[in-house]
Amino acid sequence: MSQLQASLDRIAAEMAAAPRRGRVADYIPELACVDPGQFAIAVCLADGTECVAGDADTAFSIQSVSKVFTLAMALGRLGDQLWARVGREPSGLAFNSILQLEHERGIPRNPFINAGAIVVTDALLSGHAPREMLGDYLRFLRLAADDEAIHINEAVARSETETGHRNFALAHELAAHRNLDHPPEHALGAYFHQCAAEMTCRQLARAGRFLLNAPGLPRLLSPARVRRINALMMTCGHYDGSGDFAFRVGLPGKSGVGGGIIAIAPARAAIAVWSPGLNPQGNSQLGTLAIEKLARAMRWSAFG
Ligand code: GLU
Repeated sequence: MSQLQASLDRIAAEMAAAPRRGRVADYIPELACVDPGQFAIAVCLADGTECVAGDADTAFSIQSVSKVFTLAMALGRLGDQLWARVGREPSGLAFNSILQLEHERGIPRNPFINAGAIVVTDALLSGHAPREMLGDYLRFLRLAADDEAIHINEAVARSETETGHRNFALAHELAAHRNLDHPPEHALGAYFHQCAAEMTCRQLARAGRFLLNAPGLPRLLSPARVRRINALMMTCGHYDGSGDFAFRVGLPGKSGVGGGIIAIAPARAAIAVWSPGLNPQGNSQLGTLAIEKLARAMRWSAFG
């Protein structure tokens, strides 16, 4: 058995026995009933080798991990003009903070906090009906993961539409500052649906390969833009827990409130973990710990 597979098996066993698993996100009612006892980890190496452990073929709600894919699509389509509408600084505040957006006059700090991701989705809607934009998004995910089975969970999207008051407040604040080209309900309809995509850890690790910038892998974006997305994942991918994740793990990563995290060991491996319980910053508690252990075991770090 490879060292990688042995590490994944050991980590999955440790996580199965972990007493403190964090709290499942319950502000989206449809996510509140997910069993917190689940854990999965998957790694896709640059040479195509896949290793998994735990519930790696169970689909979960990718939520904000989706923001990596929509940012890649938007940079591919619009290029650097996107940066006139959204910044590139860590926020230091909660993922759905309204305070900062008002203070900074409708320009979100970065594309991974909710306000920034809503702007990115709004940009992708330009010239497209929401249904077309979501079709393009699903095509991107399926191409990246090489898997046609990836779909959007309508019940999760509906659940968030009915309860997403903070996101509506953010979208209206963006509109008040003329940083939204479409009606808030259209931009949010697309945003809630992108977040409601379901993927397994195996699919997510595969979909992350384009972020490795390694030869022979699907090229969905220029290497220069891939580097920039990785830089933003490192500085902003875990909201106000981004510094701690960089310190403990040393790899670019992006989390979602469904409990998933994607992390990139540049040129080497795309890693996906899932454990639904979250820490106070809204990032998977055991997922973070598992990637920390894996990075240490494999000596993977963005810092040499
Ligand atoms: N759909 C979620 C929201 O907007 C995504 C948040 C997250 O995954 O961090 O609240």
